[in-house]
Amino acid sequence: MSRLLIKSCDIVVTMDDAGTELPGGSILVEDGVITWVGAGDPPRAGGGEVLDGRGLIAIPGLINVHHHLYQAMTRARAQDQGLFGWLQQLYPVWAGVDISWMRAAAAVGLAELALSGCSTTTDHHYVFPNGVAGILDAEVDVARQIGIRFHPCRGSMDLGASKGGLPPDSIVEDTDAILTQTEDAIRRWHDPRPGAMVRVAVAPCSPFSVTPRLMRESAALARRAGVRLHTHIAETVDEEEYCRRIFGCRPLQLLDNLEWLGPDVWLAHCVHLNSDDIQRVARTGTAVAWCPTSNLRLGSGIAPARELLAAGVALGLAVDGSASNDAGHMLAEVRQAMLVARARGDPKWMSARDALRIATRGGARCLGRDDVGALAAGRRGDAALFATDGVALAGTRVDPVAALVYCFPQRVRHLTVDGRLVVRDGRLVHMDEDVIAADARGVEKRILGLEATS
Ligand SMILES: [Zn+2]
Repeated sequence: MSRLLIKSCDIVVTMDDAGTELPGGSILVEDGVITWVGAGDPPRAGGGEVLDGRGLIAIPGLINVHHHLYQAMTRARAQDQGLFGWLQQLYPVWAGVDISWMRAAAAVGLAELALSGCSTTTDHHYVFPNGVAGILDAEVDVARQIGIRFHPCRGSMDLGASKGGLPPDSIVEDTDAILTQTEDAIRRWHDPRPGAMVRVAVAPCSPFSVTPRLMRESAALARRAGVRLHTHIAETVDEEEYCRRIFGCRPLQLLDNLEWLGPDVWLAHCVHLNSDDIQRVARTGTAVAWCPTSNLRLGSGIAPARELLAAGVALGLAVDGSASNDAGHMLAEVRQAMLVARARGDPKWMSARDALRIATRGGARCLGRDDVGALAAGRRGDAALFATDGVALAGTRVDPVAALVYCFPQRVRHLTVDGRLVVRDGRLVHMDEDVIAADARGVEKRILGLEATS
């Protein structure tokens, strides 16, 4: 049996239903599962590793519910553009995505996430230039190497510019080929068992890049296979106008028409919702991935997080793709979420603990998981431990848990996934950060070379 005891933390933030926080708490993980959380010594002695929790706050590993890892190679571009202009500048660059690009970008993105306390992440990958096979396999492989829990979402685009879509024809795929390859990805990678390290979702990209047929058949495929559905919706005013012009309705009505709302769906963005939309999302049990930094960066707007929570919607948090954040720091995103929710009207609209709950329990609900998101017996041993002794958190003894969110976002000290150390003493355990950065520089040089010659 594998055994890890995280002993005598300053505080264990369990994120259970009651919001229990245990001063001096310890966490026992056996064979990947938390078997005990409490103060003092565990009920039975045993072998295995003991991790010293003194001076550390333990929170459940953060859960990132929307990302585009490949974009890590194309950051800080299209700086003055809104979503549509930004996409149109970047699509031709992204047409060069291949296996080495994907591996380098996934390593960068997953390393950033792990080092910020994220133990579970999705990736919504929708750029499959014709003839390039193995892109999803490459990122699953990198996630396994790093040791993070991974939900790759098989994205897709089948509506090119010649048919009225936004992306150039060169980066869209044939509808039938998409459906076949999506089914293949589920068969190869999806693990429905509790504690799964890899689960696949079906994820056509957005109303302006996919056909209604692909949306309907994707939903049917996902429901046959018992996997979740994910897409972008209600991100910008431009998208809302596109939906009115092409489909004669608002984006949320379009999804309803396509049978794309329900408890097996989580939607990225949902910035532009009216009160009917919010009720529709709540009534159908649909979950939402909130991406505050990306929405600010692209000038898209601020999602009505408080209203969604008040309506009972499962709300998770996400950094979104690396070309519109342009960072993958999950604790920084928690801080951004708290601040931007307040900017809409009232400092009472989002507490530090509310924001942490969205990034843990909320994320687990988005992904349909009840085995992560809390430090409680029966859940997986996914814990993020942050130190409180540096200058950034000086003067915060009155409430160090809130300070994790209020103060400058820290690098995680230790991160465990299934009771295995993924980050130890602020460094990745299984990959070398400097090698990842060097590989990324090499790939970026090649991308810039490609651009110069195209
Ligand atoms: Zn996105």
